[in-house]
Amino acid sequence: MLMTKSAGSPGGASPVALPEQVEVPLGNDPEMLRIRRIGKKLFDVANCIITFGNAIPPGVEDNPSMADLETAFCHDISLSDEIVVVHDVRRHASLGSHRAVSGEPYIRFYASYPVHNQDRALIGNVALVDYSPRPVFRDGDRQMLADLAALVERELELRSVNASQLDLQKKNKNLRRKSLIDPLIGTWNRGAIMRILTIEAIRCDKLGLPLSLIVADLDYFKKINDTYGHPAGDAVLVKVASRLRSCIRPQEALGRYGGEEFLIVLPGSSHVTAMAVAERMRTAIAAQPEVIGNATLNLTISAGVASTDMFATATTEELISRADMALYAAKDAGRNKVMNATPESL
Ligand code: GH3
Ligand code: MG
Ligand code: MG
Repeated sequence: MLMTKSAGSPGGASPVALPEQVEVPLGNDPEMLRIRRIGKKLFDVANCIITFGNAIPPGVEDNPSMADLETAFCHDISLSDEIVVVHDVRRHASLGSHRAVSGEPYIRFYASYPVHNQDRALIGNVALVDYSPRPVFRDGDRQMLADLAALVERELELRSVNASQLDLQKKNKNLRRKSLIDPLIGTWNRGAIMRILTIEAIRCDKLGLPLSLIVADLDYFKKINDTYGHPAGDAVLVKVASRLRSCIRPQEALGRYGGEEFLIVLPGSSHVTAMAVAERMRTAIAAQPEVIGNATLNLTISAGVASTDMFATATTEELISRADMALYAAKDAGRNKVMNATPESL
């Protein structure tokens, strides 16, 4: 027997709650509206309504339209796991006294077919309402109503698949990002900056452009760790990375090459430009002390620069090695210095 929901139970006596991942469509979004239009035309009824267990019907207090009253009527009926056909609602034991039957819009015919989610849980129905009784509802009609409900189920299934796909894509993107970024300082990690260098070297070679790189290393960093502790050292690395980043343009890349060693890739830059960038970095670090907790730290970096306009046939590994040698020379020369690798400096 059909039951109307008691007014005191929010959401009514629906046996199964909507799963959270299914966005409650209220039966009114474009895809559901399309199915409703098909149902209305197919059965030549006043309205075809899609209800979901916990969906809140539109407000029917102020100036409700006929459609609002019909929707409210359908929501007042508990979900059934079977097809329901009420040929003449006036004669129905509980529905006969419903306000949408005794008053406007004077509903006379009601039929519904259950809608299930992918787990076969009952979550809603597709309902037909009309203003005249309908003494005959044939097997073919029942089948068509079932087909309509199947369309709704397919639509929900599609949404759920799309949602999982989007979720998966987002997770993949995050994972990919994580695999390329240094977790402490947020720059490219060693693997990523090496890939960038390889790609940019090929691109610059094709375009006949120079490519330069800088290897920069914090001076006496071990002392900071030893004096102020490892966390303070970590904080210094974050600040230094941020200052270095402020010295380069968007098409240039900064990566963490080792513990307190950075690799900067400058596509299209000659050794003269790269030396200027490295010098800007050295100054940016040395210009002002960094305050970490209670400590005021005077930081400096040493840097080595190597460019393809100096080493035309060098591989990327050779170029890094040249820059490294220039870095050692800068350290040897007293630190807080920038050195350029030249063929003569071999
Ligand atoms: P130099 O001027 O010759 O470069 O001396 P240095 O002390 O900077 O260089 P050294 O290679 O002797 O020490 C580098 C230190 O960096 C040792 C290591 O513990 C520390 N280090 C490496 N990675 C990290 C990190 O992620 N966090 C912190 N806090 N320290 C790190
Ligand atoms: Mg160092
Ligand atoms: Mg080092």
